[in-house]
Amino acid sequence: MVWTLPPAESGNLKDYQAARRGFDWGLFHAEFDWSRGGPYNVAAEAVDRHACNGLSDKVALLSVRPDGAVRSLTFEELRESSSRLASGLMRLDISKGDRVLVYMERCPELMISLLGTVKMGAIAGPLFSALGPEAVRDRARDSGAKAIITTPGLLRRLDPVRDELEEVEHLIIVGEAGGGSLSFDLLLASGDPDFRSVDMVPEDPYVIHYTSGSTGKPKGILLGHKAMLQQLMACRYVVDLQAEDVYWCSADPGWVTGTSVGIFGPWYLGATIVSYEGRFDARAWYSLIQRLRVSVWFTAPTALRMLMREGDGLVKEYDLRSLRHVCSAGEPLNPEVVRWGLQTLGQRIHDNWWQTETGAPCISNYRCMALRPGSMGRPVPGVEAAIVDEAGRELPPGREGFLALRPGWPSMMVGIWNGPTRYQEYFQIPGWYRSGDLAYRDEDGYFWFRSRADDVIKTSGERLGPFEVESALIEHPAVQESAVIGKPDPLRGEIVKAFVVLLPGHEPSEELKEDIVQFVRTRLAYYAYPREVEFLDSLPKTRSGKIMRRVLKARERGESPGDLSTLED
Ligand code: AMP
Repeated sequence: MVWTLPPAESGNLKDYQAARRGFDWGLFHAEFDWSRGGPYNVAAEAVDRHACNGLSDKVALLSVRPDGAVRSLTFEELRESSSRLASGLMRLDISKGDRVLVYMERCPELMISLLGTVKMGAIAGPLFSALGPEAVRDRARDSGAKAIITTPGLLRRLDPVRDELEEVEHLIIVGEAGGGSLSFDLLLASGDPDFRSVDMVPEDPYVIHYTSGSTGKPKGILLGHKAMLQQLMACRYVVDLQAEDVYWCSADPGWVTGTSVGIFGPWYLGATIVSYEGRFDARAWYSLIQRLRVSVWFTAPTALRMLMREGDGLVKEYDLRSLRHVCSAGEPLNPEVVRWGLQTLGQRIHDNWWQTETGAPCISNYRCMALRPGSMGRPVPGVEAAIVDEAGRELPPGREGFLALRPGWPSMMVGIWNGPTRYQEYFQIPGWYRSGDLAYRDEDGYFWFRSRADDVIKTSGERLGPFEVESALIEHPAVQESAVIGKPDPLRGEIVKAFVVLLPGHEPSEELKEDIVQFVRTRLAYYAYPREVEFLDSLPKTRSGKIMRRVLKARERGESPGDLSTLED
Protein backbone atom coordinates (compact mmCIF):
# COMPACT_ATOMS: atom_id res chain seq x y z
CA MET A 1 0.00 0.00 0.00
CA VAL A 2 1.31 3.43 -0.93
CA TRP A 3 1.23 5.95 1.88
CA THR A 4 -0.90 8.95 0.84
CA LEU A 5 -1.68 12.27 2.45
CA PRO A 6 -5.03 13.89 1.79
CA PRO A 7 -5.19 17.18 -0.13
CA ALA A 8 -4.61 20.43 1.76
CA GLU A 9 -7.65 22.55 2.49
CA SER A 10 -7.01 25.52 0.25
CA GLY A 11 -4.68 26.57 -2.50
CA ASN A 12 -4.39 28.58 -5.70
CA LEU A 13 -4.95 25.49 -7.81
CA LYS A 14 -8.41 24.12 -7.08
CA ASP A 15 -8.78 21.18 -9.43
CA TYR A 16 -5.73 19.63 -11.06
CA GLN A 17 -7.52 17.68 -13.77
CA ALA A 18 -9.71 20.59 -14.75
CA ALA A 19 -6.68 22.92 -14.89
CA ARG A 20 -4.90 20.53 -17.24
CA ARG A 21 -7.90 20.02 -19.48
CA GLY A 22 -8.65 23.67 -20.01
CA PHE A 23 -5.07 24.85 -19.97
CA ASP A 24 -3.95 27.63 -22.28
CA TRP A 25 -0.66 29.50 -21.83
CA GLY A 26 -2.35 32.46 -23.51
CA LEU A 27 -4.41 32.98 -20.34
CA PHE A 28 -1.29 34.24 -18.59
CA HIS A 29 -0.40 36.86 -21.21
CA ALA A 30 -2.83 39.40 -19.81
CA GLU A 31 -0.98 39.44 -16.50
CA PHE A 32 2.08 41.00 -18.06
CA ASP A 33 2.58 44.61 -19.10
CA TRP A 34 3.93 43.63 -22.50
CA SER A 35 0.43 42.54 -23.44
CA ARG A 36 -0.53 46.22 -23.00
CA GLY A 37 2.35 47.60 -25.05
CA GLY A 38 5.14 47.53 -22.44
CA PRO A 39 8.60 46.22 -23.30
CA TYR A 40 9.01 42.44 -23.43
CA ASN A 41 11.57 42.00 -20.68
CA VAL A 42 11.55 39.88 -17.53
CA ALA A 43 13.13 42.65 -15.43
CA ALA A 44 10.38 45.10 -16.38
CA GLU A 45 7.71 42.55 -15.46
CA ALA A 46 9.34 41.50 -12.19
CA VAL A 47 9.94 44.96 -10.79
CA ASP A 48 8.99 48.01 -12.90
CA ARG A 49 5.43 46.81 -13.44
CA HIS A 50 4.78 46.84 -9.69
CA ALA A 51 6.71 50.05 -9.05
CA CYS A 52 4.53 51.81 -11.62
CA ASN A 53 1.21 50.15 -10.73
CA GLY A 54 0.57 51.01 -7.12
CA LEU A 55 3.07 48.74 -5.37
CA SER A 56 6.01 51.15 -5.45
CA ASP A 57 6.39 51.23 -1.65
CA LYS A 58 5.86 47.54 -1.17
CA VAL A 59 8.88 45.65 0.14
CA ALA A 60 10.20 43.43 -2.64
CA LEU A 61 13.31 42.14 -0.90
CA LEU A 62 14.28 41.40 2.68
CA SER A 63 17.96 40.55 2.71
CA VAL A 64 19.05 39.03 6.00
CA ARG A 65 22.66 39.13 7.08
CA PRO A 66 24.09 36.29 9.19
CA ASP A 67 24.13 38.65 12.21
CA GLY A 68 20.39 39.10 11.77
CA ALA A 69 20.46 42.64 10.36
CA VAL A 70 17.88 43.07 7.61
CA ARG A 71 18.13 45.34 4.58
CA SER A 72 14.86 45.89 2.80
CA LEU A 73 14.25 47.28 -0.67
CA THR A 74 10.94 48.29 -2.19
CA PHE A 75 9.89 47.61 -5.76
CA GLU A 76 10.55 51.29 -6.52
CA GLU A 77 14.05 51.16 -5.05
CA LEU A 78 14.85 48.09 -7.10
CA ARG A 79 13.38 49.65 -10.22
CA GLU A 80 15.47 52.76 -9.83
CA SER A 81 18.78 51.13 -8.95
CA SER A 82 18.49 48.48 -11.65
CA SER A 83 17.68 51.21 -14.20
CA ARG A 84 20.75 53.13 -13.12
CA LEU A 85 22.90 50.04 -13.49
CA ALA A 86 21.38 49.17 -16.86
CA SER A 87 22.22 52.60 -18.29
CA GLY A 88 25.69 52.46 -16.68
CA LEU A 89 26.39 49.13 -18.39
CA MET A 90 25.31 50.60 -21.71
CA ARG A 91 27.77 53.43 -21.31
CA LEU A 92 30.47 50.81 -20.88
CA ASP A 93 29.60 49.63 -24.37
CA ILE A 94 27.93 46.49 -23.20
CA SER A 95 25.11 45.71 -25.60
CA LYS A 96 22.11 43.50 -26.10
CA GLY A 97 23.12 39.84 -26.03
CA ASP A 98 26.47 40.40 -24.26
CA ARG A 99 27.16 38.25 -21.22
CA VAL A 100 27.70 39.79 -17.77
CA LEU A 101 28.73 37.44 -14.98
CA VAL A 102 27.57 38.19 -11.47
CA TYR A 103 29.91 36.52 -8.99
CA MET A 104 28.77 37.50 -5.57
CA GLU A 105 27.62 36.33 -2.20
CA ARG A 106 23.89 36.82 -1.68
CA CYS A 107 23.19 40.50 -1.05
CA PRO A 108 20.85 43.17 -2.49
CA GLU A 109 23.51 44.23 -5.03
CA LEU A 110 23.35 40.73 -6.49
CA MET A 111 19.65 41.18 -7.26
CA ILE A 112 20.24 44.68 -8.64
CA SER A 113 23.03 43.33 -10.85
CA LEU A 114 20.84 40.60 -12.29
CA LEU A 115 17.95 43.00 -12.91
CA GLY A 116 20.14 45.77 -14.35
CA THR A 117 21.92 43.40 -16.73
CA VAL A 118 18.69 41.90 -17.99
CA LYS A 119 17.02 45.30 -18.30
CA MET A 120 19.52 46.48 -20.87
CA GLY A 121 19.15 43.28 -22.89
CA ALA A 122 22.34 41.54 -21.85
CA ILE A 123 22.46 37.97 -20.54
CA ALA A 124 23.12 37.67 -16.80
CA GLY A 125 25.34 34.82 -15.65
CA PRO A 126 24.96 34.39 -11.89
CA LEU A 127 27.82 32.36 -10.40
CA PHE A 128 27.60 30.67 -7.02
CA SER A 129 30.10 32.36 -4.70
CA ALA A 130 31.49 28.97 -3.63
CA LEU A 131 33.03 28.53 -7.07
CA GLY A 132 36.81 28.66 -7.15
CA PRO A 133 39.06 30.56 -9.58
CA GLU A 134 39.29 27.84 -12.21
CA ALA A 135 35.55 27.31 -12.36
CA VAL A 136 35.00 31.05 -12.80
CA ARG A 137 37.70 31.24 -15.45
CA ASP A 138 36.08 28.39 -17.42
CA ARG A 139 32.68 30.11 -17.30
CA ALA A 140 34.07 33.52 -18.22
CA ARG A 141 35.95 32.08 -21.16
CA ASP A 142 33.15 29.87 -22.42
CA SER A 143 30.59 32.67 -22.26
CA GLY A 144 32.97 35.31 -23.60
CA ALA A 145 31.74 37.54 -20.78
CA LYS A 146 32.37 41.25 -21.28
CA ALA A 147 32.07 42.12 -17.62
CA ILE A 148 32.12 40.51 -14.19
CA ILE A 149 30.35 42.15 -11.27
CA THR A 150 31.94 40.97 -8.04
CA THR A 151 33.21 41.95 -4.59
CA PRO A 152 36.77 42.74 -3.43
CA GLY A 153 37.05 39.42 -1.56
CA LEU A 154 35.96 37.30 -4.50
CA LEU A 155 38.12 39.32 -6.88
CA ARG A 156 41.12 38.41 -4.74
CA ARG A 157 40.09 34.77 -5.04
CA LEU A 158 40.45 35.16 -8.81
CA ASP A 159 44.09 36.29 -8.52
CA PRO A 160 45.54 32.96 -9.72
CA VAL A 161 43.59 33.22 -13.00
CA ARG A 162 43.52 37.01 -13.54
CA ASP A 163 45.92 36.73 -16.53
CA GLU A 164 43.54 34.30 -18.19
CA LEU A 165 40.58 36.70 -18.06
CA GLU A 166 41.98 39.04 -20.69
CA GLU A 167 38.74 39.04 -22.68
CA VAL A 168 36.74 40.38 -19.76
CA GLU A 169 36.71 44.14 -20.45
CA HIS A 170 35.25 45.35 -17.16
CA LEU A 171 35.51 44.27 -13.55
CA ILE A 172 32.80 46.05 -11.59
CA ILE A 173 33.26 45.98 -7.84
CA VAL A 174 30.65 46.21 -5.12
CA GLY A 175 32.80 47.80 -2.43
CA GLU A 176 36.18 49.35 -2.80
CA ALA A 177 37.34 49.33 -6.43
CA GLY A 178 40.95 49.70 -7.49
CA GLY A 179 43.61 48.38 -9.85
CA GLY A 180 41.69 48.96 -13.06
CA SER A 181 38.29 47.92 -11.72
CA LEU A 182 35.17 50.07 -11.69
CA SER A 183 33.02 51.05 -8.74
CA PHE A 184 29.50 49.63 -8.77
CA ASP A 185 28.32 52.57 -6.65
CA LEU A 186 29.77 55.17 -9.02
CA LEU A 187 28.23 53.38 -11.97
CA LEU A 188 24.86 53.56 -10.25
CA ALA A 189 25.29 57.17 -9.17
CA SER A 190 25.91 58.32 -12.73
CA GLY A 191 23.19 56.12 -14.25
CA ASP A 192 19.75 57.09 -15.54
CA PRO A 193 17.08 56.31 -12.91
CA ASP A 194 14.40 56.16 -15.60
CA PHE A 195 16.10 53.87 -18.08
CA ARG A 196 13.42 51.98 -19.99
CA SER A 197 13.89 48.23 -20.32
CA VAL A 198 15.07 47.07 -23.72
CA ASP A 199 12.31 45.36 -25.68
CA MET A 200 13.29 41.74 -26.32
CA VAL A 201 11.70 38.90 -28.24
CA PRO A 202 10.41 35.84 -26.35
CA GLU A 203 13.29 33.60 -27.50
CA ASP A 204 16.02 36.05 -26.44
CA PRO A 205 17.95 34.71 -23.46
CA TYR A 206 17.99 36.68 -20.21
CA VAL A 207 20.07 34.31 -18.11
CA ILE A 208 22.87 31.79 -18.57
CA HIS A 209 23.17 29.12 -15.90
CA TYR A 210 26.16 26.82 -16.04
CA THR A 211 25.40 23.24 -15.20
CA SER A 212 27.07 19.87 -15.60
CA GLY A 213 26.62 16.95 -17.90
CA SER A 214 28.43 13.66 -17.65
CA THR A 215 30.97 14.64 -20.30
CA GLY A 216 32.91 17.82 -20.89
CA LYS A 217 33.00 21.03 -18.92
CA PRO A 218 29.78 22.64 -17.63
CA LYS A 219 27.42 23.94 -20.27
CA GLY A 220 25.84 27.37 -20.35
CA ILE A 221 22.09 26.82 -20.41
CA LEU A 222 20.21 29.79 -21.86
CA LEU A 223 16.70 30.59 -20.65
CA GLY A 224 14.52 32.95 -22.68
CA HIS A 225 12.43 35.92 -21.62
CA LYS A 226 9.34 33.86 -22.45
CA ALA A 227 10.15 31.64 -19.44
CA MET A 228 8.22 34.23 -17.44
CA LEU A 229 4.96 32.52 -18.41
CA GLN A 230 5.84 29.23 -16.79
CA GLN A 231 7.64 30.78 -13.84
CA LEU A 232 4.54 32.79 -13.03
CA MET A 233 2.31 29.75 -13.44
CA ALA A 234 4.59 27.58 -11.27
CA CYS A 235 4.86 30.20 -8.55
CA ARG A 236 1.09 30.34 -8.46
CA TYR A 237 0.23 26.63 -8.65
CA VAL A 238 3.33 24.84 -7.35
CA VAL A 239 4.71 27.38 -4.87
CA ASP A 240 1.15 28.53 -4.15
CA LEU A 241 2.23 32.15 -3.77
CA GLN A 242 -0.08 35.06 -3.21
CA ALA A 243 0.91 38.72 -3.35
CA GLU A 244 0.78 39.10 0.44
CA ASP A 245 3.15 36.21 1.14
CA VAL A 246 6.58 36.55 2.68
CA TYR A 247 8.46 33.98 0.69
CA TRP A 248 11.85 32.46 1.31
CA CYS A 249 13.61 30.31 -1.27
CA SER A 250 16.87 29.06 0.20
CA ALA A 251 18.49 28.28 -3.18
CA ASP A 252 21.41 30.42 -4.31
CA PRO A 253 20.79 32.56 -7.42
CA GLY A 254 23.79 30.77 -8.96
CA TRP A 255 21.40 27.91 -9.64
CA VAL A 256 18.17 27.88 -11.60
CA THR A 257 15.94 27.44 -8.55
CA GLY A 258 17.43 30.58 -7.06
CA THR A 259 16.47 32.73 -10.04
CA SER A 260 13.35 31.08 -11.54
CA VAL A 261 11.35 30.48 -8.37
CA GLY A 262 13.64 32.39 -6.01
CA ILE A 263 13.58 35.84 -7.63
CA PHE A 264 11.74 36.34 -10.90
CA GLY A 265 8.70 34.07 -10.45
CA PRO A 266 7.68 35.42 -7.03
CA TRP A 267 8.20 39.00 -8.18
CA TYR A 268 5.90 38.46 -11.17
CA LEU A 269 3.25 37.85 -8.50
CA GLY A 270 4.30 40.87 -6.43
CA ALA A 271 5.35 38.81 -3.39
CA THR A 272 8.03 39.86 -0.89
CA ILE A 273 11.09 37.65 -1.11
CA VAL A 274 13.55 36.87 1.64
CA SER A 275 17.20 36.25 0.89
CA TYR A 276 19.48 34.84 3.56
CA GLU A 277 23.06 36.01 3.12
CA GLY A 278 24.63 33.36 5.36
CA ARG A 279 25.28 29.66 5.09
CA PHE A 280 23.19 26.81 6.44
CA ASP A 281 22.63 27.07 10.16
CA ALA A 282 19.59 25.44 11.73
CA ARG A 283 19.06 28.10 14.41
CA ALA A 284 19.53 30.97 11.99
CA TRP A 285 17.09 29.38 9.54
CA TYR A 286 14.35 28.75 12.09
CA SER A 287 14.74 32.16 13.63
CA LEU A 288 14.53 33.77 10.18
CA ILE A 289 11.19 32.05 9.55
CA GLN A 290 9.94 33.11 12.97
CA ARG A 291 11.18 36.70 12.86
CA LEU A 292 10.13 37.58 9.31
CA ARG A 293 6.97 35.52 9.52
CA VAL A 294 7.82 33.55 6.40
CA SER A 295 4.63 32.05 5.02
CA VAL A 296 5.93 30.10 2.03
CA TRP A 297 9.25 28.30 2.05
CA PHE A 298 11.09 26.62 -0.84
CA THR A 299 14.07 24.51 0.09
CA ALA A 300 15.92 21.29 -0.75
CA PRO A 301 16.07 17.74 0.62
CA THR A 302 19.64 17.97 1.96
CA ALA A 303 18.76 21.09 3.95
CA LEU A 304 15.64 19.39 5.30
CA ARG A 305 17.64 16.29 6.26
CA MET A 306 20.17 18.51 8.02
CA LEU A 307 17.38 20.22 9.96
CA MET A 308 15.92 16.83 10.81
CA ARG A 309 19.29 15.72 12.17
CA GLU A 310 19.37 18.69 14.53
CA GLY A 311 16.45 17.12 16.36
CA ASP A 312 12.88 18.07 17.12
CA GLY A 313 13.79 19.82 20.37
CA LEU A 314 15.32 22.65 18.38
CA VAL A 315 12.26 23.16 16.18
CA LYS A 316 10.10 23.49 19.27
CA GLU A 317 12.11 26.49 20.43
CA TYR A 318 10.71 28.49 17.52
CA ASP A 319 7.27 29.65 16.53
CA LEU A 320 6.94 28.55 12.93
CA ARG A 321 3.18 28.95 12.69
CA SER A 322 3.53 31.62 10.00
CA LEU A 323 4.37 28.83 7.53
CA ARG A 324 1.50 27.75 5.34
CA HIS A 325 3.18 26.08 2.35
CA VAL A 326 6.50 24.25 1.91
CA CYS A 327 8.20 23.05 -1.29
CA SER A 328 11.29 21.01 -1.99
CA ALA A 329 13.17 20.32 -5.23
CA GLY A 330 16.53 19.40 -6.66
CA GLU A 331 17.03 15.84 -5.42
CA PRO A 332 14.88 12.95 -4.27
CA LEU A 333 12.81 13.77 -1.19
CA ASN A 334 12.66 10.76 1.11
CA PRO A 335 9.32 9.81 2.64
CA GLU A 336 10.94 10.04 6.13
CA VAL A 337 11.47 13.75 5.51
CA VAL A 338 7.84 14.17 4.48
CA ARG A 339 6.81 12.42 7.68
CA TRP A 340 9.08 14.69 9.74
CA GLY A 341 7.62 17.76 8.01
CA LEU A 342 4.13 16.69 8.98
CA GLN A 343 4.98 15.83 12.54
CA THR A 344 7.26 18.71 13.46
CA LEU A 345 6.36 21.56 11.12
CA GLY A 346 2.75 20.52 10.67
CA GLN A 347 3.31 20.93 6.93
CA ARG A 348 3.01 18.77 3.85
CA ILE A 349 6.27 19.16 1.94
CA HIS A 350 5.54 19.49 -1.76
CA ASP A 351 8.24 17.84 -3.85
CA ASN A 352 8.67 19.08 -7.40
CA TRP A 353 10.95 18.05 -10.23
CA TRP A 354 12.78 20.12 -12.77
CA GLN A 355 16.19 20.96 -14.14
CA THR A 356 18.30 23.93 -15.17
CA GLU A 357 17.31 23.09 -18.74
CA THR A 358 13.58 23.08 -18.02
CA GLY A 359 13.72 26.57 -16.50
CA ALA A 360 10.78 26.02 -14.13
CA PRO A 361 9.01 23.16 -12.32
CA CYS A 362 7.59 20.54 -14.70
CA ILE A 363 6.35 17.82 -12.36
CA SER A 364 4.95 18.62 -8.96
CA ASN A 365 2.73 17.94 -6.02
CA TYR A 366 -0.07 20.46 -5.47
CA ARG A 367 -2.11 21.44 -2.47
CA CYS A 368 -5.32 20.22 -4.10
CA MET A 369 -3.90 16.77 -4.74
CA ALA A 370 -3.33 13.78 -2.47
CA LEU A 371 0.39 13.48 -1.86
CA ARG A 372 2.28 10.21 -2.22
CA PRO A 373 5.47 10.64 -0.22
CA GLY A 374 8.46 9.64 -2.35
CA SER A 375 6.77 10.68 -5.57
CA MET A 376 7.64 13.87 -7.47
CA GLY A 377 3.96 14.32 -8.30
CA ARG A 378 2.31 14.90 -11.66
CA PRO A 379 3.10 17.13 -14.66
CA VAL A 380 2.32 20.81 -14.21
CA PRO A 381 -0.63 22.16 -16.20
CA GLY A 382 0.53 22.91 -19.74
CA VAL A 383 3.39 20.38 -19.74
CA GLU A 384 3.29 16.81 -21.03
CA ALA A 385 5.63 14.33 -19.34
CA ALA A 386 6.07 10.63 -20.02
CA ILE A 387 8.24 7.59 -19.45
CA VAL A 388 9.56 6.44 -22.79
CA ASP A 389 11.99 3.99 -24.34
CA GLU A 390 14.83 4.81 -26.78
CA ALA A 391 12.37 4.95 -29.66
CA GLY A 392 10.03 7.38 -27.92
CA ARG A 393 7.34 4.78 -27.17
CA GLU A 394 5.51 5.44 -23.93
CA LEU A 395 6.01 2.69 -21.36
CA PRO A 396 3.17 1.30 -19.27
CA PRO A 397 2.77 2.21 -15.56
CA GLY A 398 5.40 0.68 -13.31
CA ARG A 399 8.03 0.30 -16.03
CA GLU A 400 11.24 2.26 -15.57
CA GLY A 401 12.40 4.31 -18.53
CA PHE A 402 13.58 7.72 -19.68
CA LEU A 403 11.79 10.65 -18.11
CA ALA A 404 10.86 12.80 -21.11
CA LEU A 405 8.89 15.96 -21.82
CA ARG A 406 7.09 17.08 -24.95
CA PRO A 407 9.23 20.00 -26.22
CA GLY A 408 7.84 23.49 -26.36
CA TRP A 409 6.96 24.40 -22.78
CA PRO A 410 7.63 28.14 -22.29
CA SER A 411 10.60 27.91 -19.93
CA MET A 412 12.45 25.26 -21.96
CA MET A 413 16.05 26.33 -22.56
CA VAL A 414 16.45 28.31 -25.78
CA GLY A 415 19.96 27.01 -26.37
CA ILE A 416 23.35 26.14 -24.95
CA TRP A 417 26.02 28.80 -25.30
CA ASN A 418 28.58 27.61 -27.86
CA GLY A 419 26.91 24.22 -27.76
CA PRO A 420 24.46 23.53 -30.61
CA THR A 421 25.53 19.89 -30.73
CA ARG A 422 25.15 19.44 -26.99
CA TYR A 423 21.71 21.05 -27.31
CA GLN A 424 20.64 18.57 -30.00
CA GLU A 425 21.60 15.66 -27.75
CA TYR A 426 18.54 16.39 -25.60
CA PHE A 427 16.22 15.74 -28.54
CA GLN A 428 17.47 12.40 -29.83
CA ILE A 429 14.38 10.45 -28.80
CA PRO A 430 11.89 11.23 -31.58
CA GLY A 431 9.26 13.71 -30.40
CA TRP A 432 10.67 14.13 -26.90
CA TYR A 433 13.05 16.11 -24.74
CA ARG A 434 15.15 13.62 -22.79
CA SER A 435 15.89 14.75 -19.25
CA GLY A 436 18.69 12.32 -18.45
CA ASP A 437 16.72 10.90 -15.52
CA LEU A 438 15.24 7.42 -15.15
CA ALA A 439 11.83 7.20 -13.54
CA TYR A 440 8.50 5.41 -13.66
CA ARG A 441 4.88 6.46 -13.53
CA ASP A 442 2.26 4.73 -11.42
CA GLU A 443 -1.31 3.81 -12.42
CA ASP A 444 -2.58 7.22 -11.32
CA GLY A 445 -0.01 9.25 -13.20
CA TYR A 446 2.34 10.05 -10.29
CA PHE A 447 6.02 10.10 -11.30
CA TRP A 448 8.68 8.37 -9.18
CA PHE A 449 12.37 9.18 -9.58
CA ARG A 450 14.82 6.27 -9.85
CA SER A 451 18.24 7.65 -10.77
CA ARG A 452 20.18 9.57 -13.35
CA ALA A 453 20.71 7.71 -16.61
CA ASP A 454 24.22 9.17 -16.85
CA ASP A 455 27.17 9.88 -14.56
CA VAL A 456 25.95 13.26 -13.30
CA ILE A 457 26.36 13.57 -9.52
CA LYS A 458 23.99 15.38 -7.17
CA THR A 459 25.73 16.21 -3.93
CA SER A 460 23.84 18.30 -1.36
CA GLY A 461 21.59 19.28 -4.24
CA GLU A 462 24.49 20.65 -6.34
CA ARG A 463 24.86 19.15 -9.79
CA LEU A 464 28.36 18.08 -10.68
CA GLY A 465 29.89 16.40 -13.70
CA PRO A 466 32.59 13.81 -13.04
CA PHE A 467 34.67 15.27 -15.87
CA GLU A 468 34.96 18.64 -14.10
CA VAL A 469 36.29 17.06 -10.95
CA GLU A 470 38.55 14.66 -12.86
CA SER A 471 39.98 17.59 -14.83
CA ALA A 472 40.79 19.40 -11.60
CA LEU A 473 42.29 16.26 -10.05
CA ILE A 474 44.59 15.60 -12.95
CA GLU A 475 46.24 18.98 -12.45
CA HIS A 476 47.53 17.82 -9.07
CA PRO A 477 51.25 17.03 -9.43
CA ALA A 478 50.88 13.51 -8.00
CA VAL A 479 47.85 12.41 -10.01
CA GLN A 480 48.17 10.40 -13.19
CA GLU A 481 44.48 9.81 -13.79
CA SER A 482 41.23 9.61 -11.91
CA ALA A 483 37.61 8.57 -12.09
CA VAL A 484 34.90 10.29 -10.10
CA ILE A 485 31.51 8.91 -9.11
CA GLY A 486 28.59 9.78 -6.84
CA LYS A 487 28.44 7.49 -3.81
CA PRO A 488 25.06 7.23 -2.06
CA ASP A 489 24.99 9.14 1.21
CA PRO A 490 22.11 9.33 3.70
CA LEU A 491 22.55 13.07 4.34
CA ARG A 492 23.83 14.57 1.11
CA GLY A 493 22.10 12.27 -1.35
CA GLU A 494 25.47 11.50 -2.89
CA ILE A 495 29.02 12.37 -2.05
CA VAL A 496 31.83 12.77 -4.54
CA LYS A 497 34.19 9.81 -4.49
CA ALA A 498 37.45 9.90 -6.46
CA PHE A 499 39.49 6.92 -7.55
CA VAL A 500 43.03 8.07 -8.18
CA VAL A 501 45.99 6.48 -9.93
CA LEU A 502 49.24 8.11 -8.82
CA LEU A 503 52.17 9.05 -11.02
CA PRO A 504 55.31 6.95 -10.58
CA GLY A 505 57.33 8.18 -7.61
CA HIS A 506 54.30 9.02 -5.44
CA GLU A 507 53.12 6.78 -2.65
CA PRO A 508 49.56 6.65 -1.27
CA SER A 509 49.23 8.32 2.12
CA GLU A 510 46.63 10.10 4.23
CA GLU A 511 48.53 13.39 3.80
CA LEU A 512 48.44 13.05 0.05
CA LYS A 513 44.70 12.37 0.16
CA GLU A 514 44.17 15.55 2.17
CA ASP A 515 46.37 17.53 -0.18
CA ILE A 516 44.40 16.30 -3.20
CA VAL A 517 41.10 17.18 -1.53
CA GLN A 518 42.24 20.72 -0.71
CA PHE A 519 43.58 21.14 -4.23
CA VAL A 520 40.13 20.55 -5.74
CA ARG A 521 38.30 22.47 -3.05
CA THR A 522 40.17 25.71 -3.57
CA ARG A 523 40.39 25.58 -7.35
CA LEU A 524 37.08 24.23 -8.52
CA ALA A 525 34.46 24.82 -5.84
CA TYR A 526 34.07 24.39 -2.11
CA TYR A 527 31.33 21.80 -2.58
CA ALA A 528 32.95 19.88 -5.44
CA TYR A 529 35.78 18.21 -3.60
CA PRO A 530 35.87 14.44 -3.15
CA ARG A 531 34.86 13.53 0.39
CA GLU A 532 36.41 10.13 -0.28
CA VAL A 533 39.60 9.36 -2.16
CA GLU A 534 40.73 5.82 -2.96
CA PHE A 535 44.05 5.03 -4.59
CA LEU A 536 44.02 2.35 -7.30
CA ASP A 537 46.77 0.85 -9.46
CA SER A 538 44.64 1.27 -12.57
CA LEU A 539 41.12 2.31 -13.63
CA PRO A 540 38.62 0.06 -15.41
CA LYS A 541 38.52 1.16 -19.05
CA THR A 542 36.94 0.09 -22.30
CA ARG A 543 39.21 -1.28 -24.98
CA SER A 544 39.05 2.11 -26.63
CA GLY A 545 40.37 3.71 -23.43
CA LYS A 546 37.19 5.26 -21.96
CA ILE A 547 36.91 5.12 -18.19
CA MET A 548 34.04 2.83 -17.11
CA ARG A 549 32.70 4.74 -14.15
CA ARG A 550 29.72 2.42 -13.94
CA VAL A 551 32.00 -0.46 -12.94
CA LEU A 552 33.33 1.59 -10.03
CA LYS A 553 29.84 2.77 -9.18
CA ALA A 554 28.46 -0.77 -9.11
CA ARG A 555 31.34 -1.97 -6.96
CA GLU A 556 30.76 0.87 -4.51
CA ARG A 557 27.05 0.07 -4.28
CA GLY A 558 27.57 -3.68 -4.10
CA GLU A 559 25.65 -4.14 -7.36
CA SER A 560 26.41 -6.13 -10.46
CA PRO A 561 28.49 -4.10 -12.93
CA GLY A 562 26.40 -5.33 -15.89
CA ASP A 563 27.84 -6.07 -19.32
CA LEU A 564 31.64 -6.11 -19.10
CA SER A 565 32.34 -7.27 -22.65
CA THR A 566 33.97 -3.96 -23.55
CA LEU A 567 36.24 -3.93 -20.49
CA GLU A 568 39.93 -3.66 -21.35
CA ASP A 569 41.09 -6.76 -19.46
P1 AMP B 1 19.61 20.91 -11.71
O1 AMP B 1 19.74 21.23 -13.14
O2 AMP B 1 20.82 21.26 -10.92
O3 AMP B 1 18.36 21.48 -11.13
O4 AMP B 1 19.52 19.34 -11.59
C1 AMP B 1 18.50 18.63 -12.21
C2 AMP B 1 18.52 17.21 -11.75
O5 AMP B 1 18.28 17.14 -10.33
C3 AMP B 1 17.45 16.35 -12.35
O6 AMP B 1 17.81 15.89 -13.63
C4 AMP B 1 17.32 15.24 -11.32
O7 AMP B 1 18.33 14.28 -11.48
C5 AMP B 1 17.53 15.98 -10.02
N1 AMP B 1 16.24 16.40 -9.45
C6 AMP B 1 15.66 17.60 -9.51
N2 AMP B 1 14.50 17.63 -8.84
C7 AMP B 1 14.30 16.39 -8.35
C8 AMP B 1 13.28 15.76 -7.56
N3 AMP B 1 12.23 16.43 -7.13
N4 AMP B 1 13.44 14.45 -7.26
C9 AMP B 1 14.52 13.76 -7.70
N5 AMP B 1 15.52 14.30 -8.42
C10 AMP B 1 15.42 15.60 -8.74
